[in-house]
Amino acid sequence: MAIIEVKDLNLYYGEKQALKNINLEIEKNSITALIGPSGCGKSTFLRTLNRMNDMIKDVKIEGSVKIDDVEIYDKNISVEILRKNVGMVFQQPNPFPKSIFENVAYGLKIHGIKDKSLLNEIVETSLKGAALWDEVKDDLKKPALGLSGGQQQRLCIARALAVSPDIILMDEPTSALDPISTAKIEELILELKKDYTIVIVTHNMQQAARISDKTAFFLNGELIEYADTEELFSYP
Ligand code: ADP
Ligand code: ADP
Repeated sequence: MAIIEVKDLNLYYGEKQALKNINLEIEKNSITALIGPSGCGKSTFLRTLNRMNDMIKDVKIEGSVKIDDVEIYDKNISVEILRKNVGMVFQQPNPFPKSIFENVAYGLKIHGIKDKSLLNEIVETSLKGAALWDEVKDDLKKPALGLSGGQQQRLCIARALAVSPDIILMDEPTSALDPISTAKIEELILELKKDYTIVIVTHNMQQAARISDKTAFFLNGELIEYADTEELFSYP
């Protein structure tokens, strides 16, 4: 079954229509790459999946976005619970100016988990899940901002994992990173597919070809192609 179902989705920033009649379904435990030229609506589309666009003034959204068969734009939906289920990782690693531990424990504390040993356990599992544990386990009290860019991005992934989402949205998560850190994150994303559904914006076609199962190609706010990545990138 599809975990994400988008039907007849339109999005307007004031007068400007940024998404035009988008229809797509995303399967559980898959990686979907959103590609297309700058300004075509990739980030806008990504952000409709956890209502990040709600915060922007003059945004109008029409159509339906269902996650686990639940209409996420329904008035009764708690945005906090939605964002717990649909985590997000941004282009620039954005750890808080706090310790490594506090960064991962942050969302857990918001959701009321106070028990110290449970926090320790989830922080460890999340850092392991983000392939960062071995590099930081000796001192979790170190400031997160002292880590390298690639480590900071994996920390942000650990922070997203900590609250047990089903879906992780990634907006160009490697474009601020060097090639080695990028390769590590790509390997990690492939690993995460076992437990999560991943939707990733990338401007890098090779990256889409390397890691994604499905590729959605946007142009001028329209979804003009949505196919198996293998098919899309194979030439007769
Ligand atoms: P992409 O991620 O493909 O580069 P975006 O989704 O960021 O594209 O942008 C799609 C279009 O919507 C662009 O024309 C952009 O300028 C416009 N846009 C994006 N965010 C806003 C906003 N907050 N307010 C007004 N227009 C916006
Ligand atoms: P990216 O393509 O990497 O998402 P952008 O430069 O398109 O980055 O957008 C950066 C931020 O500026 C986003 O939060 C986006 O919503 C906002 N933005 C983009 N285009 C516009 C616009 N035309 N008017 C207002 N805000 C915009």
